[in-house]
Amino acid sequence: MEKRFRISLQGAVQGVGFRPFVYNLATELSLRGFVINDSHGVLIEVEGPEQKLVEFLIRLNREKPPLAHIFSQEVEELSPKGYEDFTIRESDSKGEKEVFILPDVATCDECLRELFDPKDRRFLYPFINCTNCGPRFTIIEKLPYDRPNTTMKLFKMCPLCQEEYEDPKNRRFHAQPNACPQCGPHVSLFSREGKLLAEREKAIKKTAEALKEGKIVAVKGIGGFHLMCNATDEEAVQKLRERKKRQEKPFAVMFKNLEQVLEYGEPTDLEKALLLSPERPIVLINKEKELAPSVSPGLKKVGAFLPYSPLHHILLSELPFPVVATSGNLSDEPIVKDNEEALEKLSEFADYILLHNREIKRRCDDSVVKVIGKTPTPIRRSRGYAPLPVKLPVELPFKVLAVGGMLKNTFALGQGNVAFLSQHIGDIDNLTTLSAFEEALFDLMNLYDFQPQLVVCDLHPRYETTRWSEKFSRERGIKLLKVQHHYAHILSCMAENDLTSQVLGIAWDGTGYGEDGTLWGGEFLLCDLQGYKRAYHFRPFPLIGGEKAVKEPRRVALSLLFEVFKKDAFGVIEERIKEFSETQLRTLYKAWESRINAPLSSSVGRLFDAVASLLGIKHKLSYEGQGAMMLEDLYDPSVKDHYPFLMHEGIIDWEPTLLALLEERDKALAVSRFINTLARIALQVAREVGVSKVCLSGGVMQNDPLVSKIKELLTEEGFEVFTHRKVPPNDGGLSLGQLLCSLKERDLY
Ligand code: ZN
Ligand code: ZN
Ligand code: FE
Repeated sequence: MEKRFRISLQGAVQGVGFRPFVYNLATELSLRGFVINDSHGVLIEVEGPEQKLVEFLIRLNREKPPLAHIFSQEVEELSPKGYEDFTIRESDSKGEKEVFILPDVATCDECLRELFDPKDRRFLYPFINCTNCGPRFTIIEKLPYDRPNTTMKLFKMCPLCQEEYEDPKNRRFHAQPNACPQCGPHVSLFSREGKLLAEREKAIKKTAEALKEGKIVAVKGIGGFHLMCNATDEEAVQKLRERKKRQEKPFAVMFKNLEQVLEYGEPTDLEKALLLSPERPIVLINKEKELAPSVSPGLKKVGAFLPYSPLHHILLSELPFPVVATSGNLSDEPIVKDNEEALEKLSEFADYILLHNREIKRRCDDSVVKVIGKTPTPIRRSRGYAPLPVKLPVELPFKVLAVGGMLKNTFALGQGNVAFLSQHIGDIDNLTTLSAFEEALFDLMNLYDFQPQLVVCDLHPRYETTRWSEKFSRERGIKLLKVQHHYAHILSCMAENDLTSQVLGIAWDGTGYGEDGTLWGGEFLLCDLQGYKRAYHFRPFPLIGGEKAVKEPRRVALSLLFEVFKKDAFGVIEERIKEFSETQLRTLYKAWESRINAPLSSSVGRLFDAVASLLGIKHKLSYEGQGAMMLEDLYDPSVKDHYPFLMHEGIIDWEPTLLALLEERDKALAVSRFINTLARIALQVAREVGVSKVCLSGGVMQNDPLVSKIKELLTEEGFEVFTHRKVPPNDGGLSLGQLLCSLKERDLY
């Protein structure tokens, strides 16, 4: 029986080789009809026997070009029209703005084969690409995505490249960054004094030699510069740490290929797949053999990734070792992307600088993914993913700008049921980072021609993004909505899991500003799209010294001990923490007693810190989350029991937990039982509240053993547990949640 399907596809389906793919598939199945690009995406009409049509649909989704992301798909069944053949129709809306900008994609296998084929005209050419791979987001200046609108506009294609570009059967048909050694960009190596040392192949060879000699080289990549050095050379890595003034925060390591990863690490199958995915994120994997000890000191895991630009592939192929590849930036500043800036700023750290003359239009840091509770979870969603949108479960009433939080900032532009999330901007705690935020924001708003009708920010009065939003909304005369931090966390988890009705949200993180002016962070919120109720929270404790306590777990430990033992805490402290002098202790006790500069907090993140200090694991942090990461490494899944805790009138009291923990002699046992206790608490509250859907969010939910345990306990009892897969559980995901808050302002216009 003959039928006709009209299929309309929305998403990243233009400029990715979709029409030729549809043409080939339809012809192979002897189906008739046409395919056309329209202003929303791709429209297909196919007719033929029903069975073949179904096969077409299945294969359409399964075999689609690697860069295509189908966002939504509508299929309409119609009576046959009597098409005679299958054709690619010219789009009548030529020049129509393609709504979806593609992310940058790692070099594909075919390009890679050509890259290392001595007979190919692009042999060892560091800018090889095709329709299935190469830079996109970082080279686009404006839409539509055509070569004159990219930073490739300065390079005129040679006849051979032009021919490929115009041939619909060629893999480089309409590949905007198409180039070759004759017509495209090239690399050059500079000394730190700014002297040109070598160009083209020689520059890469010399870079490899320098790395072999233990030098540090700044290398221009896709979304910014990396600082690279031999990851197995302790002296080189130490030197990089000293120059960057970066004490212990782990460095990411780039490996030549998967085989080399396996020499040093033990990725699971899922982690291997992530390493090889076209997004090429940094993946946190267990170390097997030690790289240079300073790469990720004190941690079991290392951030590993594979080459994603042809330049990386060539460079790494010259080296017998993996390299540290960390963002090239001054501390507290965004990643460097321009040549001039690199010569000026990165010469401070690097012995050599490898530049190229393809301009990077916008910064885009490497993405980071971690498998949490068996689910690949973004820790930082940036290169390879941004700016692909996330689909919202509801239509927004108007255009909404959500500015995110302060740490690990991202912002979001929301329109209809689409959320365009920015690349990772970073911590916005000074004027430099604030202006980087502003630059990225106006850039994306211009690209999409986006005029917000509502701005959403965090409730925290002292976040730079809050102040910025107040000013921006005033100047533009639009409404500003402030949203509680942990509610936004849970909304982001609801958004990406397509949830619109009531959930129990477990939002545990460092700290976020609460409705009562205290610092929240151990929250159980009953949430729907209209609002939330704080159902349970952890017993608040003072953070002695405010901000200082965030960096010094020993201060949090102190506070908990004072809360429980009052003056009798001194003995326990001297025995366990051994960090304070008698006078210091007395001063801190006074501060605790008087509550001066000691804001109350219910943060579970801080409880983790306290445990790290009480067990003598870490008293002062050199980066955020360090204590929790070190505890995570000690977790033993064979430990099944947990410590006692109390629940009373909406408060979870950690006092019995603390007392039991202090009795424990074995660190690993203590950590395992502590984490199990938190999971038990989650279960107990879920039982009390009795809502079947439970969302986990907040920075603490980056802890794999904790999330795994919560999932295990709650699913056993029939709860449905939702976690993050598309945006980070940390503050990088806040902006997505903030967008959803606009729903309660439905009647604004
Ligand atoms: Zn390719
Ligand atoms: Zn060429
Ligand atoms: Fe947070």
